[in-house]
Formats: sequence, structure tokens, C-alpha cells
Amino acid sequence: MPHIQPTLDLSPKVSDEIRKTTCYMCACRCGINVHLKDGKVAYIEGNRDHPVNKGVLCAKGSAGIMQHNAPSRLRKPLRRVGPRGSGEFQEISWDDALSIASGWLENIRHDAPEKLAFFTGRDQSQSFTSFWAQNYGTPNYAAHGGFCSVNMAAGGIYTMGGAFWEFGQPDWDRTRLFMLFGVAEDHDSNPIKIGLGKLKERGAKVIGVNPIRTGYNAIADEWVGITPGTDGLFVLALIHCLMTAGKIDLDYLSRYTNAPVLLDNDTGLFLRDDDGKPLVRDRKGGAVTAFDTAGIYPDLSAEHDGHRTVFQHMADRYLSPEHAPEAVAERCGIPATRIRAIAAELARVAFDEAFEIEREWTDFRGEKHHTMTGRPVSMHAMRGVSAHSNGFQTCRALHVLQILLGTVEVPGGFRFKPPYPKPAEAHPAPHSAARPDAPLDGPHLGFVRGPEDLALKPDGSAARIDKAFTWENPMSAHGLMHMVISNAHAGDPYKIDTLFLYMANMSWNSSMNTGGVMEMLTDKDENGDYLIPHIIYSDAYSSEMVAYADLILPDTTYLERHDCISLLDRPICEADAAADAIRWPVVEPDRDVRGFQTALIQLANRMKLPGFTNDDRSPKWKDYADYIVNHERRPGIGPLAGFRGDGTQTGRGAVNPEQLDRYIENGGFFVSHIPNGADYYKPWNMDYQNWAVGMGLFDSPQPYLFQLYVEPMRKFQRAAEGHGERQPPDHLRERIRQTMDPFPIWYPPFEDDNVNTDDFPIHALTQRPMAMYHSWGSQNAWLRQLHGRNPLYVPTKLWNQHGFQEGDWARVTSAHGSIVVPVAHQGGLNENTIWTWNAIGKRKGAWALSNDAPEATKGFLLNHLIHELQPPKGDGLRWSNSDPITGQAAWFDLRVNIEKVTAPTESDPAFPPIQSPVGRGPEDLAWKVGK
Ligand code: SF4
Repeated sequence: MPHIQPTLDLSPKVSDEIRKTTCYMCACRCGINVHLKDGKVAYIEGNRDHPVNKGVLCAKGSAGIMQHNAPSRLRKPLRRVGPRGSGEFQEISWDDALSIASGWLENIRHDAPEKLAFFTGRDQSQSFTSFWAQNYGTPNYAAHGGFCSVNMAAGGIYTMGGAFWEFGQPDWDRTRLFMLFGVAEDHDSNPIKIGLGKLKERGAKVIGVNPIRTGYNAIADEWVGITPGTDGLFVLALIHCLMTAGKIDLDYLSRYTNAPVLLDNDTGLFLRDDDGKPLVRDRKGGAVTAFDTAGIYPDLSAEHDGHRTVFQHMADRYLSPEHAPEAVAERCGIPATRIRAIAAELARVAFDEAFEIEREWTDFRGEKHHTMTGRPVSMHAMRGVSAHSNGFQTCRALHVLQILLGTVEVPGGFRFKPPYPKPAEAHPAPHSAARPDAPLDGPHLGFVRGPEDLALKPDGSAARIDKAFTWENPMSAHGLMHMVISNAHAGDPYKIDTLFLYMANMSWNSSMNTGGVMEMLTDKDENGDYLIPHIIYSDAYSSEMVAYADLILPDTTYLERHDCISLLDRPICEADAAADAIRWPVVEPDRDVRGFQTALIQLANRMKLPGFTNDDRSPKWKDYADYIVNHERRPGIGPLAGFRGDGTQTGRGAVNPEQLDRYIENGGFFVSHIPNGADYYKPWNMDYQNWAVGMGLFDSPQPYLFQLYVEPMRKFQRAAEGHGERQPPDHLRERIRQTMDPFPIWYPPFEDDNVNTDDFPIHALTQRPMAMYHSWGSQNAWLRQLHGRNPLYVPTKLWNQHGFQEGDWARVTSAHGSIVVPVAHQGGLNENTIWTWNAIGKRKGAWALSNDAPEATKGFLLNHLIHELQPPKGDGLRWSNSDPITGQAAWFDLRVNIEKVTAPTESDPAFPPIQSPVGRGPEDLAWKVGK
């Protein structure tokens, strides 16, 4: 009998229509093709034309269908009817919700606008939300950067005018040695995976420095299981080795950094000319002149009237034996021979594998170069190195290492993405002057140049509720979201009336001291009134924070909304191109929800906020899409750079009413490539500078030098030494003098000094998995199957020491609290470190999960062990658990001990269930559209 092959349809038509938009299952903003069948989302794939992901889609991205259809979606505005924290709500209309909110907000604005604290989580519309807050007039605005990675961002911007991830990327096509520090797999997810794939294909070497060997570190050629909090010490030892061996790029340092700038011996400030420009000595003619004088070649070893260069001071500092590998090896948990070997490998690749590209370019001193020198070493770091109380200085050290090797903005090295590079001086200084019924005096967040820019009231007290930009954390460029609730609860520096949060799960995984925060949100005064009188919260889902708000403004899912991923904000550029993108409603909401940004515009219109209101008092914009198209930040510069004017103008151009249609036709994004010859040496390359001005990234060329020595930090030190009109309070003088060193330094994480490390000998960390972005995947039926519970991973030495077996449980105790959790063994782990996945544990009643969901019974948070304040030191003060420079939350300073316990039925602590405003999801959840 002949065998008859069945006819199989190997490529069935899955959709009637494809709509292209931008993913929001994590912060990477990949392009996606959303397939629709019968008007419903049938399938999501990566957009091959998109600059970010080039068709690659991760597990989270493809599971967007289940996010979009999650039972935990909020359906209608809600007003609290039970006690705060109970989860008892009544559905109300949008008209009522906006009336209630604008009633509260208008009262505050007439009286004292600072009584509104408006903070957003991982939202991607910060240029808009800050514009709203500025026009409202409160100084109390920031997004989540303070508890995420502000050390990385601020360290990069102060040092070299940009940092990692959105600011820049390795030259994936040319790099031959890539070092990765403290990176969890969810940040910069698809772009790094694509890049690592390229490196592996070419046989380039990857070194992963991380106490935990998961994800990217698991595929590294070499894994360095460093002790948490010692990255800065390790990096400074690498610098010591390279300087000792003379393996640094002296030509690069001379031309493009402040290494040859002369330092005043008396003050430690730069010698400057009458125009305020830092002075260098020309090696050719010997003249002492401004750093940007045409034709000069600055001298690294100059001396002038006894004043020496930054480079000479640096050599004194880092050639010192205290930075030798042998002096730091034990503390870092890395043998000295290995540190020396890594330094030698960096030097070998940077210098022995250097190459030239025939490409002409002209620098800011007018010198024409015929080639570009490639130094194929690149680096990337993220929250692992930055979420420590020494994180800012560690990030600075890492950038100084890159700069010494001459590997920034050169072929094969690390490259900026527009609108970066942009020096700290090109950013605004922070503004905080609030007046009744008036906008704020300028942008909230920025980069201080010295004590004069601190956000202090005339009496010296903090102007902001989070105490950002004060002597406690002078360079807190992203604010301190983790301190808002505890400061508001304490009325320190003042009481507030309304806490307005967006997409920030502050009563659960986004706060330290989670149980304490719940109490603060529900505490009452002697009159029986809540200490924080009003709480407004906007979220798309029934997260833990919902139960603690008085008024809920339900947001849409990411497939139902307009958004712009703007060059004014956190764009999606490549090192070779400027790019931005949109989201648009590829499906309409089937619930009574509104995009948060549209709700903000409607609130602004009710209050007739300046900036949102025409001279005839009519509203400027009806919704967020209207704002995206018609708002101009400066003449001709709007939220979107593409298809301006008649549709052919880029960067600068008049408003184009059809701009969103052009984006949709183009796949939801826009790209403008940097011309050849302008694509490297961007801070000093006049072709790039002129291109950037044409694009509207800035209004005139602004070449600058990399800052090995950060002069603003020296200004704070001088204030602490008793100079100037503004000086710190006495109890902070010594800390400022020590920590604000203008050269990168290392000091032990504060918790090491504040607890007895014999009692708490183990480091405890969290990481986020590739398949879950913070708590966002908690209600996602597909992603929950990957991460429905989270064990505490224990290294072999501790595993054996405590006699653990698979299935055992442990009590983990810190100076602040204890938890009881399931354990699992992991070999690839620093021997004194335990860790778990972040934000898997859930509170019963949240996210429409059943009370016996594994997330609520076996999952847990380390947050219960971490306090927003450091343990008492006996000086009568409680210091914030933050980096003393930027205020970044020091999540990873945590020290604990562990003991084996009898297995309980549930993780501890277990909080009582909250009532779900959306009920429970069904037992089985499936999604199929069409036949
Ligand atoms: S990396 Fe992030 S943005 Fe990209 S597909 Fe995955 S979840 Fe979406």
C-alpha cells in the first residue's frame, strides 16, 4: 500500500491583521508585531525591522497576550469604602474619580503645592509626568531611579556624560573582550542577548563579574564570583595594575579627558582662565591655556607655579600599595594572581589587538584625524554594582577604568547612544521653589554643580519630601522614592496631604521594610485621621498597592494605550542612530479604563494648570495622543523626532498633525542614522556635534572632557572643610569629606560597619530573572509557570555547613527582621552569599491569584529583611540606608545569618489576605482566538 502523507498546514494563517507597536513587558522597548484575529490579540512576534530587537522576542514579550487578558486587570475607577489596607472599594465613574482627585489637588495647590508628593514607578513617560508636576508646582516629583540604578546613571554622567543601557552600548561588532558587572538578566534584556550572540559567534571573550552565576554570567567564558559590595575595590586594583605597568592610553587621556587639567594646590579646584575654562599646559609651545585652545596638545605631566595636573594626583593615588591586588584579594574573594591576570588581559586586548579604521574626522580643537583607533574592550554594568552605599564611587571607578584604557567612544569600545553623550553641565540643576497657585521655578531633577544647587529652604531644611539634593545625598539626580513614605509618615521634613503614585508597588516589592510601610500607610493620628491623608494610585492591575489607596485611577494595558518613547526622555537609540517609538491602541480597552497620561491631562484641564491651558483658558490637549503630536518643548522640538513638519523633517520641525499615522505606517518607530565619520569620538567630534544640533538634541555644539576628577565633588568637600556660604551641618561634615572624593574611592558598604558581621556573616542579594520583570509577570499565566515560587539559593559551603537537603527550609535573619523560606543548592555562587529571585512572592488577595497560589505560600521577599534606615549607631540619628552621594537605595548591602528550621506549611511572614477588587482568576486560564 502506498503511504499517503497527510497534508499539514505548517504555516497556518494566525491573524487577519498585524499591528506594530512597542513591547512593555519590560523596560527594553522592543518592536512587536501584534497579530489580531477577529479583533482579538492572537499572537505576538518580534519586529525584524526594529532597531532595538531586530525581530528577537523574549519569553516576557511573547507572553504579552496573557498580560493583556489577565484577570487581575482593574476595570473601573475605585473609591475606598473599607479601612485602608482592606481592599474594600466601590466602583465609581471617571467623572467622579477626576472630581475627587482634582478637588484634593486644587486645595493643596492653592495652599502649599509641596503637600503633593507625586512619584512614578517604572513608567516611560517621565518627560511628560515631570512636565505635569512642574506645572502643578510641587517640588516633590521623581520616578523610581532612586531605588533602582541612579548610581549607574549619575556616576556615568558626572564622569563621562552618559552611562550604560539607554545611554550607551558596547561596539558589539568590533569588541573582543567584554566585561559584565552585576547585571541581572531583565535589564537591557534582548539587546544584550543579541550582542552576546555576536560576541560568541566571533569568539570574543566574555568575563562576568557577579557573585551569582546565572543568565549572562552562566555563558561567560570566565566568571568572577566577587564578594558583594567590593566591585569598586576590585576595579581600583585593576587600575593600579594598569597604571603600574604603563598600560594606559596616554594620548587619549591627554586629548579627551581632564587628566592634563591643572589643579590648584590650595583649593583642589581647577585652575581656570577669565572665561572660566579649565587650564592645561600645551606640550608643544609650553603655554598655559584653555583646554579647548585650537592646535594644542595638553601635557599630562605639566607643573605650573607648583600646581600639578589631575593625572599626577591620580598616579599618586592609584599607584599606592593599598590598591595592589594583594591588598584587596581577600576582601574581594578573588586571588591576587587572578586580578593581575584580568588586568593583563584587558591591557593585551586594548593595546595589542588595537586596530585602525580609515575614517576622517575633526576634533573640537580643529585637528583633523585620518583614522580612528580601535581598542576592542568594552564593559557593561547595572544595578548589582550600584545598589550599594558605595555604589556611586564604584560606578565612577568603572568608568575611569574604561577611560584609562581609551575604550570609550572608540571602535571596539563602549559607545554612547543619542541624545548622549551629554555632560553634567548640559543638564539642568534641580529646582524646588514652590509657591501657591504657581508652577515650580524649573525642572525638579538635575545635576548639582556645587552646594549652591542643593534643594534647601532658606532655613537650611530639605525642600523635598524625599530630602533629595540635601547634605545627606547631594547628588540625588533621580530623587529617593524609597524614602517618601517614611518621611511623609514622620512629617520629616514636613507633612504632606496627598501621595500620588503611578505604577509603583510601594506596599510590597518596591519598598524596603515592607511590613513597616503597610503600617505607615494605615497609621492614624490622635484624631483618627490617616497620617498621610490622601493616597491616589494608578495601575493597570490589582497589585498589592491598590489596597492602600483611597482612589484608584485604572490604567490601560500596554496594547491599549498611546505612549511615546521620546528623545526627551528614555529613548531607544542605537550607537549609530537616533531613534524613538510609539505605542498606540492596537486593541481598544473592554473596560472603563484610561491611559494614566490621559488621566493626568484631564486632571490638568480641570485645574487649568499653566502649560496645559491656552490664554483663553481652553485646554491645550484633550488626551495624551494630542499632547504627543502637538506639544513643543522648544520651538520645533516635540516628544517625537520623526516625520515632523510636512512629514519629511527630522528632529526639528513644525507640528505634523499626521505624525502618529506616519509612525504607525513605519512600524511604530523612527530612526535617523548618524553619518559615517560622526559615529565615534562623539563628545569631541565636530561632525557629530553639528549633526546633534541639527537633530535638536542640543542647540549649539558642546564638546567637553571626560571627568576623571569631578570638581563639583571637591566643592562639597570644601564646604565640609569650612569654606563658602553654604556648609553642611556638623554631623555630616566628616561623611561628606570622606565620601565626596573627586577621585573614585572605595569604602565598605555601610551595613558592614553598622552590624556585627560575626552575627551576620552572609551577604544576601536578589536578582530578576529573564522571564519576569519585577512584579509585572505575577498575574501572567504563562510566566507564572516559569517562576511561580522562589527558593533561597545557598552556596555549597553554607549548604554543607548547615546540613541542608533539597526540600529544606531556613530562617534568614538580618538586623531588621527574619523570614522563613525554602532553600535550594547552587554551586555557581560566591561562598558567602545567598540570593533569590526578586518580586516573585505575593500577598494573598493581590493580582487575582488564589490564596493558595505558590507565590503566596512558598514565594517570599527579601524586602522584609531590609530597612529604609540603617540600624541605630548610638549617635541618636537614624541614617538612610542609601548611598550618601546620590541617595540610591542600598538594597544589596544586606547582611544576614541562616539556620535550618523544620519545614512550615508557608513562608513567613504571611500577611492576612486582602480583599480583591477584581475577584479571583479562574482555576484554568487559556487563551485561544479564532477556530
Ligand atoms: S526584552 Fe523586554 S521589551 Fe523586549 S520583548 Fe522582552 S519583554 Fe518585551
